[in-house]
Amino acid sequence: MVGDGFRVQNIFPNGNRLGKRISPFFLMDYGAPAYFPPSDKPRGVDEHPHRGFETVTILYQGALEHRDSAGNYGKLYPGDVQWMTAGSGVVHEEKHETEFARQGGTLEAVQLWVNLPRVHKMTAPRYQELSKDTIPVVPVGQHSGLRVIAGSFNGHPGPASTFTPINLYDIQLKAGDSVTLSLPENYSTGIVTLKGSVNYNETHAAKAAEMALFDTAGEEISITAITDATLLVLNGEPIDEPIFAYGPFLMNTEQDIITAIDDYNAGKMGHLK
Ligand code: MN
Repeated sequence: MVGDGFRVQNIFPNGNRLGKRISPFFLMDYGAPAYFPPSDKPRGVDEHPHRGFETVTILYQGALEHRDSAGNYGKLYPGDVQWMTAGSGVVHEEKHETEFARQGGTLEAVQLWVNLPRVHKMTAPRYQELSKDTIPVVPVGQHSGLRVIAGSFNGHPGPASTFTPINLYDIQLKAGDSVTLSLPENYSTGIVTLKGSVNYNETHAAKAAEMALFDTAGEEISITAITDATLLVLNGEPIDEPIFAYGPFLMNTEQDIITAIDDYNAGKMGHLK
């Protein structure tokens, strides 16, 4: 559990063994569909800080509500994506949306941590609320769709603004349908099967909650759904810098982390009002 509201599987890091192979992506949690009974007090994660990276929340089912030390407040519904740049530091809480909590229901969501290069780690905090209707759905196969959250696919750009080059796709692939991805040279590529099962390049099978890591040589990857499948494609230019991570902070050095803890304790990242 993350807080009392998110029942998640950690897809990576897995003891950091992936290292740079999946940079600039640092962490991914998947909350597979889970039922939460009615509650007058919304479940979730209480006030906590972040610095040095971005959190990307992709909501598939349920409803979420967040607020932060800069006075930002918002709600997420299925299909919406929140791209939060923590940068120099925010304090926020992540909860089930009040009415959803009151009625109870099924929640399904992904949270991804995207690293920032040293030069942007202390950038001002920023939110991109990418509502479902701003995210293009590109038809693929016979009955399937690929949502472009960031970067572009076959000339269709996604709405997210990123600090380093990233392609982030959310694919719903019907059984029997295929999609071919042509990915840039020297980028990291991980494809996570959230639901269902697929074949890569007609040879390698993957099932739910498995991530396939690809070589960084630019290549074509063809994906065929064996059963109806939901996939998340993580593709980006690696950030070739040292990483020093501690709890909610993702920095370059141990000293950066000590400074982050001091700044948080001194109230420099603010408080929820
Ligand atoms: Mn958080």
